[in-house]
Amino acid sequence: MNLSVERVSLELAETFTISRGSTDRTDNVVVRISDGGHEGIGAAAPSTHYGETAATVEAAIERLRPTVEAVDDPFQVERVERELAHELGRNPAARCAVSIALHDLVGRHTDLPLWRYWGLDPDAAPDTSYTVGIGDPETMADRARRAADAGYGTLKVKVGTDDDRARVDAVAEAVPDATLRLDANEAWTPKDAVRNAEWLADYDVEFLEQPVPAADPEGLRYVYEHSPLPVAVDESCVTLPDVPAVADRADVAVLKLMKCGGLVEARRMVHAARAHGLDVMLGCMIETDAAISAGAQLAPLCDYVDLDGSLLLDDDSDPYEGPVRAGGHIDLDDQPGIGLR
Ligand SMILES: [Mg+2]
Repeated sequence: MNLSVERVSLELAETFTISRGSTDRTDNVVVRISDGGHEGIGAAAPSTHYGETAATVEAAIERLRPTVEAVDDPFQVERVERELAHELGRNPAARCAVSIALHDLVGRHTDLPLWRYWGLDPDAAPDTSYTVGIGDPETMADRARRAADAGYGTLKVKVGTDDDRARVDAVAEAVPDATLRLDANEAWTPKDAVRNAEWLADYDVEFLEQPVPAADPEGLRYVYEHSPLPVAVDESCVTLPDVPAVADRADVAVLKLMKCGGLVEARRMVHAARAHGLDVMLGCMIETDAAISAGAQLAPLCDYVDLDGSLLLDDDSDPYEGPVRAGGHIDLDDQPGIGLR
């Protein structure tokens, strides 16, 4: 196998703010693996929350280079992911970029999109939600209105501010027909989360995502037992062993390729979550379509999809284009591999 690595700089269309901070731009690392006249593409979208940056990804991939270049059969993705995880227990986004590129290569060798290779129904892919980042109430209402006008039926609203109620009221008034998901990114106390869930239940809210810190599993259980709204866990559900650990204190497991380290592992987590009675949402980081498209291939296995990472980018910023369309539809067609055009 031949491996090449390239950093891509992504500009967001608007500053993106969550309870932990703001972002205007981010770097992803694109990986290309070629073999037998075909080339697979994947990307890492590192998150400092999980200890990664573009620089750590590049260093990690250099450490993995001998293993990747020694792969003699790209179809052996399960074994390769295991070997990469064994070599670098952390660095999930770096490992994920290799996993995506190898899966894309398999798709190019077979001329099959991954959804078909895996036997999935392309029509079962839920539309993605679109995220409204934190701003003042008027700004958030305006963003929500523009998103609804662009065709998004479900909006994920970031909360965890000094006045979440004013913000959610403004959004709900601006887009009365939209379904809302709320994401506090760990910002609330358990008691505040339950109090907030009580007034949020008056709106069309599907669930509360990560209301309390991941470091407070008992607080999470308290919210789950007292909230009138379902509870989704993102920061509390990172890798496979987290799935059974959250099963008695959440309704929805939020999986992300960049947290778990690869497409084999993500599929394992989907099935583990189902076995534990959890619904599954597939989420993402701020990602180029060279990563988002891999998630899109998995979308038919999921109950909810939040794959808007590339939709939040400035139009000219992403060099790739995949199956996730403006307006939220995931268009799984016959493009091979991860479905890049
Ligand atoms: Mg989240």
